Amino acid sequence: MPLVGKMEEEKSTLEDELTFSIPNAWEQSDEETESEITEFAEKYKVFISESKTEREAVDNTIDLLRENGFVSIDECEKLEQGDKAYIVNKNKAIAIVIIGKNNITDGCQILTSHIDAPRLDLKARPVYEDKDASLALFNTHYYGGIKKYQWVSTPLAIHGKVVKEDGDVIDITIGEDPNDPVFAVSDLLPHLSKKKQSERKMKDVIKGEELNVIIGGKPIDDDDIDEKVKINVLKILNDKYDIKEEDLTSAEIEIVPAGQARDLGFDKSMVGGYGHDDRVCAFTSLMAGLNIETPSKTSLILVYDKEEIGSEGNTGANSRFTESVFQQILAKTLGDYSMEDFRNIMENSKGISGDVNPGVNPSFKSVHDLRNAGKMGQGIVITKYTGAGGKYSANDAHAEFVAYIRLVFNENEVCWQTAELGKVDEGGGGTVAKFLANLNLDIIDAGPPLLGMHSPFEIISKVDIYHTYKAYKAFLEAE
Ligand code: MN
Ligand code: MN
Repeated sequence: MPLVGKMEEEKSTLEDELTFSIPNAWEQSDEETESEITEFAEKYKVFISESKTEREAVDNTIDLLRENGFVSIDECEKLEQGDKAYIVNKNKAIAIVIIGKNNITDGCQILTSHIDAPRLDLKARPVYEDKDASLALFNTHYYGGIKKYQWVSTPLAIHGKVVKEDGDVIDITIGEDPNDPVFAVSDLLPHLSKKKQSERKMKDVIKGEELNVIIGGKPIDDDDIDEKVKINVLKILNDKYDIKEEDLTSAEIEIVPAGQARDLGFDKSMVGGYGHDDRVCAFTSLMAGLNIETPSKTSLILVYDKEEIGSEGNTGANSRFTESVFQQILAKTLGDYSMEDFRNIMENSKGISGDVNPGVNPSFKSVHDLRNAGKMGQGIVITKYTGAGGKYSANDAHAEFVAYIRLVFNENEVCWQTAELGKVDEGGGGTVAKFLANLNLDIIDAGPPLLGMHSPFEIISKVDIYHTYKAYKAFLEAE
């Protein structure tokens, strides 16, 4: 018997030595780390609860940057070692830079993320009255990859800006204060769904044109008015914000889930809320930037808009904004710079594309290859390639670069795992990584796992948020 026992022991040692096993990150945390994890999650919950749109995320980022000694690049005549600045792009994207000790043309350590999230946008002429229902409603056009049925029968808030003809900007946020009203898309009751809705396929259970948000139900007291409920709502908007219906044509009003991010589970180990994808990577990379000493290589944190609709437009990662950022940094550090300097700063840069990964869903395990899937509570997920089908549209990071990332994470005791985006041919998706790779720099995807991605209530583990932060900070500090 002892011999068997010994053999088993040896076997397990050899197994430990040769195999790649991924521990639960909570089990790797001592008491002190656990309190850091909780503390970090508290700050994060405030950030995402107050950053429900890309514009709000940029504004809150600027506030945190300025509190920590960062200034707008326009306020700097020159940038020198240790200087900390930011560049805002149309109030929807932002670049953060910390000038390192090395030559600027040695390249930057880049962290990317995106702050747009799936939602319902208002159409240009959104307000209408449905006389049959005796209600006023907003017509919407959804943004990003949503499962439309998830957006009905849940309290919604309105966030955005109306820009008047004279350029005056009016901020609107309704539905977050406990005393505010909320808004909602009404689902059909089960009693009458049998024919109309029950036979529909999942993507059509609620159709795009059925995502109409209820905004009022009381007629104005004026017999000369035809659409009394609609006019009553317009009058309330006019009294409160001094806007008319035409002003809504030059507005960006986003309908988002109402309410704060909350602790989830008896053990409070997770956070449930709207917009973890991808504000969790924006927040963790921002915190990494705020908590490093002057690094060797210049840190560059790029926070984009429009990822959810393909990174298009001049605030998305597929725009010239990234090149503009490099040019502005070169101009402020070197003064006159050459095309060779421009090429060098890009080609010598290394990047982590911070974006979330699907965690293994306990009720739908068959969509994952479980050995190559991200699991909640096991740390940041390294995704060598994304894409769909035969890796179409993927950034496939080079093995040399993956080895470098492993080294940085291991040396800094980051809990990490690896994953693909589901089983082969199960579906797929992409991130901003491929647009940065177009500049001929090395970049890889790495971010925390999520459950219920793109839903109004996404779930993330606090320990994964923490290890994402640790990973990003280690990367910025690395050579
Ligand atoms: Mn994302
Ligand atoms: Mn997404």
